Amino acid sequence: MKEKMQIEVSVIIPIYNEQEIIPELYSRLQKSVSKISQNYELIFVNDGSKDASIQELKKIANADSHVLYINFSRNFGHQIAVTAGLHHATGNAIVIIDGDLQDPPELIPELYAKYKEGYKIVGARRVSRKGETFFKKVTAKAYYRILKRITNVDIPVDTGDYRLIDRKVVQAILAMDEPDKYIRGQVAWTGFKTTFVNFERDERRFGRTGYSLKKMTKFAIDGITSFSSYPLKLASIFGFIVSGFAFCMVVYVLLSKYVFQTAVEGWPSLMLTILFLGGVQLICLGIIGEYLWRIMNTVRNRPLYIIEETNIES
Ligand code: UDP
Ligand code: MG
Repeated sequence: MKEKMQIEVSVIIPIYNEQEIIPELYSRLQKSVSKISQNYELIFVNDGSKDASIQELKKIANADSHVLYINFSRNFGHQIAVTAGLHHATGNAIVIIDGDLQDPPELIPELYAKYKEGYKIVGARRVSRKGETFFKKVTAKAYYRILKRITNVDIPVDTGDYRLIDRKVVQAILAMDEPDKYIRGQVAWTGFKTTFVNFERDERRFGRTGYSLKKMTKFAIDGITSFSSYPLKLASIFGFIVSGFAFCMVVYVLLSKYVFQTAVEGWPSLMLTILFLGGVQLICLGIIGEYLWRIMNTVRNRPLYIIEETNIES
């Protein structure tokens, strides 16, 4: 009987080493979402946590049939965990929220109210980021501004992945099965009617960020390479500037040798030229390499994730 009911709200929560917070996370989510409808599902995706997160999730799932879990065989990354959730979500409205309670679950009814007004994408915009390092705040701010400038999709500034989206948006995203996911970019790319709700971003109370600087850098580059050819263009712009400069140099060298008969310049200028050109060439190769790697990734067409265990029936 219950199985046949159309789910109204699905909530997707990626989990990576969040064992201490899961009980509170669950109770706050459950309290908040049940205000909207009793037909909801909470899909926890355990992304290869090294702690006891999965045991915690199973405990909750055993006690509450609203709780579904997907257990990955290893850590596949935040964006892939959310993607797995999107694959399995059956709700009319789908909420993506971080599992560390930095995104307050109490905001969900507000997001849902906007959805009911007819918005297909309702983003949660953070007006403050508490407890984050100066470095993270500054780099995040700069990054989103640059991203906005150089991509042709309108990726909202200062929003994480906390948002509510309509089924239609999910279907569109699932049709984009690129492995180097940048979900907030894909959501914006669909172009559906969008609005925002503001909130204060809390600090993490337990555990630590699962985003190492390395993961963060990869994620930042994914955001750019999936939505912008600007870095590739930059390579050619550099190329043109340097070529123009080199051409002037050639003219100068020829003139100095045959017309002015001045002495040939010594090795410093030679070295400078070689180093400069070498540097620019390496930059350009690097940029091309970044794209190439992603093309390879896409062409290989591997499954995005491997599920070891789940309580979702399909
Ligand atoms: N996360 C994940 N896989 C990872 C890293 C993080 O599923 O490899 C989850 C994590 O449990 C949290 C969300 O993604 O629910 C956001 O991660 P985190 O809070 O570490 O990122 P930050 O807020 O520091 O950007
Ligand atoms: Mg966090």
